[in-house]
Amino acid sequence: MRPASRAAVSALVAVTALIALGACASSGGGSPTSSGSTSGRIAVVASTNVWGDLARSVGGSTVTVTSIISDPNADPHSYEASAQTELAIAKATLVIENGGGYDDFVATMVKASGTKARVLDAVTISGKQPVAGQLNEHVWYDFASVDKVVAAIAAALTAADPAQADLFSANASALTGQVAGLQQQLAAVKAAHAGAGVAITEPVPVYLLDGAGLVDKTPAAFSAAIEAQNDVPPAVMQSTLALLTRHDVAALVYNEQAVGPQTSTVLDAATRAGVPVVPVTETLPAGKTYVTWMASNIAALGSALDK
Ligand SMILES: [Zn+2]
Repeated sequence: MRPASRAAVSALVAVTALIALGACASSGGGSPTSSGSTSGRIAVVASTNVWGDLARSVGGSTVTVTSIISDPNADPHSYEASAQTELAIAKATLVIENGGGYDDFVATMVKASGTKARVLDAVTISGKQPVAGQLNEHVWYDFASVDKVVAAIAAALTAADPAQADLFSANASALTGQVAGLQQQLAAVKAAHAGAGVAITEPVPVYLLDGAGLVDKTPAAFSAAIEAQNDVPPAVMQSTLALLTRHDVAALVYNEQAVGPQTSTVLDAATRAGVPVVPVTETLPAGKTYVTWMASNIAALGSALDK
């Protein structure tokens, strides 16, 4: 499930560098969002607003967070980084990348910018290993991994500003407690629906589905092709559609940020067959925090399976 990440950064300084992400990679576009002045605060740059939101929760008012990718409506398969983004990385104290091939542009820009920032790699911190040669890099859908990254963020912020150690520790504990609540919510779905079959269009939700004890019946070749932006072979498409038309699955979990004609065909088939659809995204939707976002995802999954 590792995307064929194509990172190409222009060698020209101070000019826009065009970077194409792998299929799995999330939306881009627009300029980085920043929260206020950096004066006296710890400057944090995160590749997506998922890690950015967690860093803000741990750092509170002591951090200024810039999330490079945050627009859920932008083309999920291309991302245009700017000189502004590279400048933010150059000035950062802490950089959080997802890793696992998801956002290779960060490492490229870290190198190009000459930043002295500490760099956290969420996939490395998670300890997740490839399964059958495939690494699922969407570790923010795995709560145990999120706990580890939250602890690493708290440690990195403490190293940057030791006087605030108690604050970071308290904020991290509060966040971990909320993540434990998500685990309980997911466990309730598992208690009711473990063993139920589901289909996916792209591997973004797989850790969450595993946590609920659900069985992903999608042909691996289907979701791998969507993630890598390849054509789905006709026979693979046929067996994927058959899961829906024959009601072999209880729900379709649909990645709204990795869409194209082939995912539309699958979505249409689910709708026509009356199979409940659970939309999911790569990045944090507007108006949500990580915790409220995941709570909504789990609630949507649970009610689809209840149908
Ligand atoms: Zn993805």
